[in-house]
Amino acid sequence: MGESRAVVVVGLGGLGSATTYWLAKQGIDVLGLEQFELGHVRGASHDHSRIIRRSYHTPGYVELAAGAYDAWRAVERDADAEIITRTGGIDLFPADAAIDASTYTSSLTAAGVPFDWIDGEEVRRRWPAFAGGDLLTGDVHAIQCDDTGIVPAGRGTATMQRLAVEHGAELRPHTPVRELRVVDGEVEVVIDGDEDVEVIRAGHVVVTADAWTNRLLAPLGHEVPLAVTREQVSYFPHADLDRFAIGRLPVWIWMDDPSFYGFPVYGVTDALKGAEDCGGAEVDPDTRTFDPDPTMEQRLAAFMERLVGGGFGAPRTTTCLYTLTSDRDFVCDRVPGIPQISVGLGAAHGFKFASWFGRELAALATGAPVRPELAPFSMERESLYVPISREAWLV
Ligand SMILES: Cc1cc2nc3c(=O)[nH]c(=O)nc-3n(C[C@H](O)[C@H](O)[C@H](O)COP(=O)(O)OP(=O)(O)OC[C@H]3O[C@@H](n4cnc5c(N)ncnc54)[C@H](O)[C@@H]3O)c2cc1C
Repeated sequence: MGESRAVVVVGLGGLGSATTYWLAKQGIDVLGLEQFELGHVRGASHDHSRIIRRSYHTPGYVELAAGAYDAWRAVERDADAEIITRTGGIDLFPADAAIDASTYTSSLTAAGVPFDWIDGEEVRRRWPAFAGGDLLTGDVHAIQCDDTGIVPAGRGTATMQRLAVEHGAELRPHTPVRELRVVDGEVEVVIDGDEDVEVIRAGHVVVTADAWTNRLLAPLGHEVPLAVTREQVSYFPHADLDRFAIGRLPVWIWMDDPSFYGFPVYGVTDALKGAEDCGGAEVDPDTRTFDPDPTMEQRLAAFMERLVGGGFGAPRTTTCLYTLTSDRDFVCDRVPGIPQISVGLGAAHGFKFASWFGRELAALATGAPVRPELAPFSMERESLYVPISREAWLV
């Protein structure tokens, strides 16, 4: 008899680590399998910071983001440590912005989340860190929402892994899953053994493999159209970083095409982080390179200078993967016709929801009915299968 487990989770980035945590916390026998070392830098859940915010383009996401904060608070209580740092946030819309501001303001209003609609000059008055730049004129408008902050990607993931193990989960790094087979109402999880393949039998399998998801789903006949892009974030040294400390600079997003975003000083003490959303080329997750794209770096540096002023040194840039769905909405569902397998996909904005995903995927793995909140994230929705287009990613 081979190994047999109640639930196997494939992939231990933010979403999979959260799933092992929420399952183990309920006393459920769970094994997490990761192809690389825990905390590796080849996927999407490393580095210091991710944005967490209520400000979203649909009322559904604004409501859901409240659940994301709740789910992280459960981790904070369990770890007896602060995970989320509240910074306040501004979404900046130039005149004729590619992203429609009204979808944000109406969604926040519908959910009763307080925000201010202010022009660029008022932004500079409230946040003098922007006064050094020339971009925020009266033609630019902004949503200022205090309910915005930073969630630490690497530390948050590591915390959930630690708690999962403390609650009884087993996490096994360096264990790539080669295949999933449905046999006699269970799932056979095929991994490399010492001499031959080994099979672990599981009552349920949760696939949180992000960029590698279709390697496991396609042979089951359930490929999801996904675009995997190589993205990058840059840390810019500056002689006067106090100007950009938390409280002096909010989390900011430039809601145009290209779209940029950035953080106050966080995670490192010698540089300010900025990045471009969806600026990178499509890649294969196994053959991608890790070298920064100098064109993207220069585009971002020029933008940062116009936003907050000059004085930055040469950036340190690191890369990561976006895994984008056609509609940029999540997947959080059981595979149609295979209720023993569930899938979670964060659609390149999912880290803020990582703990929420873990809670929801744990419920799916233990047979709970699919909650109405998950309907937009169904594997059967039509918009998941329309041709991939960049326009849909601009949200
Ligand atoms: C630069 C960048 C900035 C971002 N900014 C934000 C942000 O501000 N706010 C936000 O909410 N989100 C943001 N995101 C998106 C968010 O980080 C991702 O949605 C989230 O981290 C995805 O987590 P994951 O666990 O699904 O994927 P990953 O972290 O990639 O984890 C998947 C894991 O599965 C493993 N795996 C795959 N196949 C197998 C297999 N066959 N066997 C075993 N293991 C396997 C992989 O090795 C990997 O460790 C950003 C992403 C990037 C890259």
